[in-house]
Amino acid sequence: MRFKEFGIKKDIVNAVRKAGYEETTPIQEQAIPPIMEGRDVLGLAQTGTGKTAAFALPILNGVEFRKRPRVRALILTPTRELAIQIFDNFKKYGRYLDLRTACLYGGAKKGKQLEQLKRGADILVATPGRLIDLYQEGMVDLNSVEYFVLDEADRMLDMGFLPDVKKINEYIPPKRQMIMFSATMGRDVEKLADKLLRDPVKIQVDPENRPADTVDQHLIYCKGEDKDQVLISFLQTEIAGPDNQDLPRKERKNAIVFTRTKRGADRLDKALKKAGLNPACIHGDKTQGQRKDTLDRFRTGQMLILVATDVAARGLDIPKLNFVFNYDLPDEADNYIHRIGRTGRAGQRGNSYTLCCQDELDRLYQVEKLLGEQIPEFETPCSEVLDRSIKPQVKEKKKTERKPYRRKRGRY
Ligand code: ADP
Ligand code: MG
Repeated sequence: MRFKEFGIKKDIVNAVRKAGYEETTPIQEQAIPPIMEGRDVLGLAQTGTGKTAAFALPILNGVEFRKRPRVRALILTPTRELAIQIFDNFKKYGRYLDLRTACLYGGAKKGKQLEQLKRGADILVATPGRLIDLYQEGMVDLNSVEYFVLDEADRMLDMGFLPDVKKINEYIPPKRQMIMFSATMGRDVEKLADKLLRDPVKIQVDPENRPADTVDQHLIYCKGEDKDQVLISFLQTEIAGPDNQDLPRKERKNAIVFTRTKRGADRLDKALKKAGLNPACIHGDKTQGQRKDTLDRFRTGQMLILVATDVAARGLDIPKLNFVFNYDLPDEADNYIHRIGRTGRAGQRGNSYTLCCQDELDRLYQVEKLLGEQIPEFETPCSEVLDRSIKPQVKEKKKTERKPYRRKRGRY
């Protein structure tokens, strides 16, 4: 379906066209009409399906310009990176409108955010903590909110934001239109939806459509100590090689390498640098400014290799991504889906490579159980024979010699 068929304002259709989109994605096709009709909407769709525009376009269409701005739409999202992305999307699709958008998130000074609020905002994108802070300081007026969006509801609950969401819901007039998006529908999400939504239109896009359909997955089974070499030679050929470097910057292929831990990310970052590659690294210990800088450079193609932990990469919108490398298998099988879902987005094909050593077989089998299929093996000079009939050895927890101490919490 084409965007102009919805009957949204011309200025919005033109902005979408300028962004390079012609056809809607399925979630956009299904969510935009009921939102325009004023219905509450519960949308379930995995990452990369285009949910942001699915709520941003009808909101931009429905919020009327006023000389004196008042917040008419509030979008809550779990992380600052996501908040900034959504904010950028509103600016992009609203470029020909006179609406004002503000963005509030923690981990940054309040000054600039307060300035935005003082100038006035029609649309407010925020993470829960900072919003509550500024609301309680009397800096935000939510009495005119008409649209309330909860983006990534499942993540929001995972991150413990339920009390904050309930609190914020109390700040908003009860007569508002509520839109909730989630990648998964657990019992907690369902309960929250029951509480907040009124007679919602429920939209579900391809629940079975695992990233497997748009991502070519590869498994590289090798020794732990060979992983660096496998990764480095891949990156040297595919990313740092002349075939890629000679392309115009915008067309160059790029890769994200996921590690399970912050320390792993730092170590790998160094190892890649030592091999003459030019990686950037993001994880929870990097400051907000550093993360934003790094992401900007990655998005614009100045850097082509990003090393990241799961949490740091959560929900990131990197429009063009060619390769996802799993340096190690994630603790949670779900994260495998999130990781490889970074590529193969919005109709483009992507590639993922997962490095697995013997110690990780247990995790591999859990991922494959979730996928409902085996990840096809990919041969490299370092590959070892993987015999799936051998049950993984469940490690004895007590008798580790090298690590007498317990792992710390909060490794991300
Ligand atoms: P989600 O919130 O579902 O994870 P996003 O809204 O972040 O997905 O969009 C994922 C990617 O798809 C972004 O790079 C976005 O620019 C792109 N995109 C969104 N809508 C379309 C469209 N109609 N056609 C092509 N690309 C799109
Ligand atoms: Mg999203």
